[in-house]
Amino acid sequence: MTTSAARGRLWVLCLAVLAAGPGCGTPPDRVVTTQAAAPAAGGSDPMQGLATEYVMLVLAVGHHDPDYVDAYYGPAEWRTAAVKRPLAEIAKDASALAGRVAAAAPAAGSDSMVALRHRYLARQLEALRARVRMLEGARLSFDEESKALYDAVDAPHDVKEFQSVLAQLEVALPGPGPLLDRYTRFRDAHVIPTARLDATFKAAIDGCRSRTLAHVQLPPEERFTIEYVTNKSWSGYNWYQGGYRSVIQINTDLPIFVDRAIDLACHEGYPGHHVYNVLLEKALVRDRGWPEYQVYPLFSPQSLIAEGTANYGIEVAFPPAERLTFERDVIFPAAGLDPAGAERYYRVLGLVDRLSYAGNEAARRYLDGEIDAKQAVSWLETYGLYSPARARQRVKFVDQYRSYVINYNLGKDMVARYIEAAAGDDRSRRWTAFADLLASPRLPSSLTASDERQ
Ligand SMILES: [Zn+2]
Repeated sequence: MTTSAARGRLWVLCLAVLAAGPGCGTPPDRVVTTQAAAPAAGGSDPMQGLATEYVMLVLAVGHHDPDYVDAYYGPAEWRTAAVKRPLAEIAKDASALAGRVAAAAPAAGSDSMVALRHRYLARQLEALRARVRMLEGARLSFDEESKALYDAVDAPHDVKEFQSVLAQLEVALPGPGPLLDRYTRFRDAHVIPTARLDATFKAAIDGCRSRTLAHVQLPPEERFTIEYVTNKSWSGYNWYQGGYRSVIQINTDLPIFVDRAIDLACHEGYPGHHVYNVLLEKALVRDRGWPEYQVYPLFSPQSLIAEGTANYGIEVAFPPAERLTFERDVIFPAAGLDPAGAERYYRVLGLVDRLSYAGNEAARRYLDGEIDAKQAVSWLETYGLYSPARARQRVKFVDQYRSYVINYNLGKDMVARYIEAAAGDDRSRRWTAFADLLASPRLPSSLTASDERQ
């Protein structure tokens, strides 16, 4: 991903628990070359050459779309070789490559990972071709776009679904004035003071990391650094560097609520994006020598898996009762908040969480041209209980990332159903199924197809 965007204020801190390696204050380059992909065993696997061509196409699209290449840690010379080319030429090459990938399907009964790899590459390439068409000016509806790019479609949501939850919130947050005002005041009383942000995040990361390491084996050299940034449409971002390292950025444009400490620490770090990228690098790039996983195109099915696992991972690390205890005993005190309020806070947030699909619906109507930006802000305020400032930030996010919004909530629900069908309530089995999903190339559409669970 490019790093040309202005960052505004920037602090870098090293977290003692994570900073066994490089010194503080010098974030690594955005692109770190770790190793060339290992050659295929015997050098005869046609997928190796096809996968390398795919990487080159992803890098080429990155010249036209600054958000497209989210991470790349393959050979530096590949990036140099992937010069800017006309979109029509990329589209033609991608079409030809798709034909050759289809012809290289593994024989029935092949190793399940090999079968998953082939299907995944074909579908990622299909998404690349759709993104190129969009860059060439094609207009897709919200659903067409999410299907093409993320291999999933979120069913429409009727306002009745949100109205019943809003009615429960009216009871949970009694008092005069509009519900949005009452909720905004309630939540504003749970902001982490700026001076306590570092300590609170550190406590949250310690909690997420220790729970993850108890169940998932990670390379000893894995680590990340945290930066606090401004002027972004997102609230947090993991920039994977390769070599088992991430830079995690937290946006401080708006005050950060106490629940965001665990959410962001798990989502961006453990067992979310950082762990996902580390396991992909370990299992697929280093152990198997598959080059295509050294690049991560943001607008692709991989993002539904990435965001879905990062969000579901919060609950894997912290089942609700355990989370409440940890918030009350560790996070609220670290943030200087009264722990006695933790139970009510999370009860109310549990209801508000059920409004999350209102964000998808606002994005769908906005991108499909049914409402304008102002009406989208109003929709988010009314049905999603976004404060005006957060609603405007959300519309800015939708302008930049469009139907990507489905990856968070629909992705989480799809991952949850997949893991819970495989592992039930057993915590240890859930961790195992979760880590297996992180380390394998599985498509969103295969999360719901039980016959494809291999
Ligand atoms: Zn994310």
